[in-house]
Amino acid sequence: MKYIKNSDTAHIPGRPLAENEHFSFGCHPGVECFNQCCRNLNLYLYPYDVIRLKNRLEISSGEFVETYTHVVLREQSHFPHVLLAMAENSENTCPFLTDEGCSIYADRPQTCRAYPVEQAVYFEEGRPMLLHYFRPPDFCHGPEQKRYWTVKSWESEQGAGFYNQMAVEWAEIMGLFTQDPWGEEGPSGQKARMAFMAAYNVDDFRRFVLESSFLARFRVKPDVRLKLAHDDVAMLRLGLAWIKLAVFGIRTNQLSPKG
Ligand code: SF4
Ligand code: SF4
Repeated sequence: MKYIKNSDTAHIPGRPLAENEHFSFGCHPGVECFNQCCRNLNLYLYPYDVIRLKNRLEISSGEFVETYTHVVLREQSHFPHVLLAMAENSENTCPFLTDEGCSIYADRPQTCRAYPVEQAVYFEEGRPMLLHYFRPPDFCHGPEQKRYWTVKSWESEQGAGFYNQMAVEWAEIMGLFTQDPWGEEGPSGQKARMAFMAAYNVDDFRRFVLESSFLARFRVKPDVRLKLAHDDVAMLRLGLAWIKLAVFGIRTNQLSPKG
């Protein structure tokens, strides 16, 4: 899910898909390109992807980010991107690829679910405006399979609805990071490290929230507070609200300072 400014769509590759427009696509182990798309990828991971994957692998979020990702701060960026590290073999395959296909299929990342549709989002008066583009790579035989989908039916087929919702929530934060919020401290300062933890290391952020004076200093909605010890999504959403408040000074109904 790519964050864009307003409706600046001129540079987005692929065929734009209107809401009820159909595209043809199918994928199964019988296609001659089977598994070809799961290698040598710049596969961006979003915070909810990390939650699903670390739980699938039964490791901590910190261990997942350390072991399975590259954290990249690009020039002119004010927040790092997190990319799935490809295996160090001759084809740079996805670490979850097996001969039978994806070994973590039920928990595959948002980008893999959306594929071959790519999404872009911009915000109008705070409301997300989603754009969709059909963009299979040239080697993909999926479009020849003559099964027809709309953006909505494909989302439903792939179980991507909640993933997409979480990706939009994250895109809103990435939109805020188009402005440099760090000042002299820079993007490797203490506040930036905290923001990264709030987004990508839910287990450490949980320890910070529950074991520091956080809950004495901030007002958290009671129903959210009850979930924090065990619900990763509630904790991630609190983390995103914390980034808005602590980094950008934006209050939300999730989180506000006490007093
Ligand atoms: S390249 Fe396309 S058709 Fe081939 S396995 Fe990947 S998604 Fe399926
Ligand atoms: S996570 Fe699964 S679907 Fe996505 S690239 Fe890796 S093997 Fe392919």
